[in-house]
Amino acid sequence: MKFGGTSVADAERLKRAAGRIVEKREAGNRVVAVLSARGHETDRLIADAYEVSPRPDPREMDMLLSTGERVSCALCAMAINDLGHRAISLTGSQAGIVTDTSHTKARILDVRADRIRAALDEDNIVLVAGFQGVSTAKDVTTLGRGGSDTTAVALAAAVQADVCEIYTDVAGVFSADPRLVPEARKLPVVLFDEMLEMAASGAGVLQLRSVEYARNHGVRIHCRSSFDDAPGTVVVSEEETVEQPLITAVTHSTGEARVTLTGVPDTPGIAGRVTTALADANVNVDMIIQNEPVTADARAEMSFTIPRDDVHTAQAALAPIADELGMSIETDEAMGKVSIVGAGMKSHPGVAAKVFTTLGENEINIEMISTSPIRISCVVPGARVPDAVRALHSAFDLSGEGTIKPEQPFGEFA
Ligand code: ADP
Ligand code: ASP
Ligand code: MG
Repeated sequence: MKFGGTSVADAERLKRAAGRIVEKREAGNRVVAVLSARGHETDRLIADAYEVSPRPDPREMDMLLSTGERVSCALCAMAINDLGHRAISLTGSQAGIVTDTSHTKARILDVRADRIRAALDEDNIVLVAGFQGVSTAKDVTTLGRGGSDTTAVALAAAVQADVCEIYTDVAGVFSADPRLVPEARKLPVVLFDEMLEMAASGAGVLQLRSVEYARNHGVRIHCRSSFDDAPGTVVVSEEETVEQPLITAVTHSTGEARVTLTGVPDTPGIAGRVTTALADANVNVDMIIQNEPVTADARAEMSFTIPRDDVHTAQAALAPIADELGMSIETDEAMGKVSIVGAGMKSHPGVAAKVFTTLGENEINIEMISTSPIRISCVVPGARVPDAVRALHSAFDLSGEGTIKPEQPFGEFA
């Protein structure tokens, strides 16, 4: 069972989470619960860091950020003890979560869950601080924003749990962020491939790595509300479902920045050097566009998108190459991205046409486009993201009873 920040935000909610954990235990289950930091605690800690330093040291940042989830776990253990059950709280390190050394976005390498197993054998409810681990260099690390989901999935795999329940502040995974689209539909099931694309394109309800980890280790994820008992969304593999909706969801992100390199020499190897420099700086590049030169000076242009938080890192990483080759770096930090995801689009023409036409009709300019077999993403001005999401959600009729089936024509695009 994993409880997110909103679900443990105050004493009342924390006690409610404790109550739900105890109920599960009393129903005869052995329970490992992963908790997030309370409310906006992680944001507050990040703000604290920037108050004392413009570029906080990543190792110290992790020491700081990891405290948020420890607080939640200790408090919850106290509440569970008061309900007459035995609970023990553990840090990520005590729980045996071993990561690589990339501070603030570490990857889990191994879970040595013997201490958890021993505690379960002694009839404890085990509470584990989410979002953190210990690196191979024995330093505290954190797993990137939303990382408690990945803690939960990794522990579920390690203890061979029946299910990894992600309790959150919405009733499951929806056809769009319900905060933006109130009529969005709760999806009873979603395919792993779709969930991966959704998480990668901004549906923050599950951290991308948690979905990857679950698929690789065969963990069953059930994402559901921490406020009621209704079933939420189960992430399933293709063999487990017959329903193959054409379009499953619209996702968005407003945390994108575009970096444009101008004056790129038209010689082989430049794209490799640029992307290697970014990779070495641990910056994830999303969309990339490179234009062949049309001008006489044989200089090209290359644009790509990266997380906005990484703009300064990217600039620093690219500066030496830009100086050497006479390129200039421009950044645009007010970009957003809207995507549609659906396994059914693989075999159905006209989806891209409908996306682009819908955005055009709403006078939303498309700055960049990228696709996968089951996703179409458009970079648009950040301020237009909500309009774009709503327009696409309604154009594809995603709030309807059931989603459009492939055999159903698409009006003029069929
Ligand atoms: P937690 O603190 O429980 O981890 P998060 O804030 O990380 O919660 O994730 C839940 C939030 O994800 C929801 O409040 C919702 O606004 C957002 N969200 C974005 N896209 C979706 C989606 N497609 N379905 C459900 N929630 C979504
Ligand atoms: N507390 C961390 C965050 O806010 C991790 C999480 O909640 O999953 O990103
Ligand atoms: Mg989350």
